[in-house]
Amino acid sequence: MSTHRLYYDDAYLQNFDARVLECSPALPVQGASGRQPAWEVLVDQTAFYPSSGGQPNDLGLLGEAVVLDVRDEAGGIVHLVDREMQPGGVKGCVNWPRRFDHMQQHTGQHLLSAMFQERFGLPTVSFHLGGEICTIDLHGAEPSRDQLVGTQRAANKVIFEDRPVGVRYGTREDLERLGARKQVEREGLLRAIEIESADLQPCGGTHVKSTGQIGMILVRGCSKVRQDWRVEFVCGGRAERLATEDFKRERALMGLLGCALEELPVAAERLAAERDANFKSLRAAFEQLASLWAAQLTATAPVAANGVRVVSLVLRGAHPELLLPLATEIAKNERTVALLVLEGTGQLVFAQHPTAGKDLGAVLKSVLAAYPGKGGGSKDFLRAKLAEPRTSAAVLELAKSLTAEGKRGLAV
Ligand SMILES: [Zn+2]
Repeated sequence: MSTHRLYYDDAYLQNFDARVLECSPALPVQGASGRQPAWEVLVDQTAFYPSSGGQPNDLGLLGEAVVLDVRDEAGGIVHLVDREMQPGGVKGCVNWPRRFDHMQQHTGQHLLSAMFQERFGLPTVSFHLGGEICTIDLHGAEPSRDQLVGTQRAANKVIFEDRPVGVRYGTREDLERLGARKQVEREGLLRAIEIESADLQPCGGTHVKSTGQIGMILVRGCSKVRQDWRVEFVCGGRAERLATEDFKRERALMGLLGCALEELPVAAERLAAERDANFKSLRAAFEQLASLWAAQLTATAPVAANGVRVVSLVLRGAHPELLLPLATEIAKNERTVALLVLEGTGQLVFAQHPTAGKDLGAVLKSVLAAYPGKGGGSKDFLRAKLAEPRTSAAVLELAKSLTAEGKRGLAV
């Protein structure tokens, strides 16, 4: 048998009387403290809305039982509850703050969809009422920023006019004749929601009784999802909370940037430009420093009998950004090899001028076989990172001796 849906004709009904017709054990459900047993209950009539048409189910109490879920099934509306119930009379109580929030979002969606359709010919192909944000998917050309703002303004204008929102029943043909926004395939008597002089839409959900109760619609964003445009929005209490959170964030930014609210974008832009300029200056300074340091190190490094000079150094307390330019600068000198390890991070660079003719790849391979780490590179420039930075000095000693052996033909 079908359950009588009290919410169809009174979406404001919070407390109601019903009769429990059936109660049977269900599969356990995931609760806050793990898996918990559950029962499925059928009643003769209910004000609980089941998940349907993008609107989530209601929660609340059925007698002493906590309602965990409400589903619209072939046999009626199934209430999933946390305890077994006996047949007979019972009082139901809907969690009203949750339901009213859903009514605000859902009615706001009707209005927003109507405005997109009316103003820009963009039909809504799906609706989702999420825990934080609601979305509609629009089919057609991408809505511009101006169109999004214009639609939001038009919808809010209808909210400020506080127009009645009513329920109409009629056949598919009746509703089509009256200009229903969306055609449905179902036959028989259909339920439709009418926003006076704005929208008529077949729907089985719960809605507020006048547009003023939507409170406010805020469009939050638009992005492409498959072939459609997903518009994010919030209504009523959610709009109020989100605007408050936005302002809280703005105040924090005003404090950090030391400016007034309207100056935030300019201040953030200035900060980003300063950061980019500082980064460039810092890189130039590192390159200058690397060039000077490389000249000094190269000048004092011993030259082997075969004319190859090896500059080896464990860098202590140096900035990691200095490592690569320093190795590059040293390896610019003919017949010169750079073996550098950064003690703090275990980063190492082996580089050479092509005329040095060492097989640095073989040196790195032997080093990483003895000390854990990862790395690689080209013939003349290799980088690696040691798993244990404290092995830096030992690694450098090994690399030095392997590079020196090269002259005897072992690693060249
Ligand atoms: Zn609806």
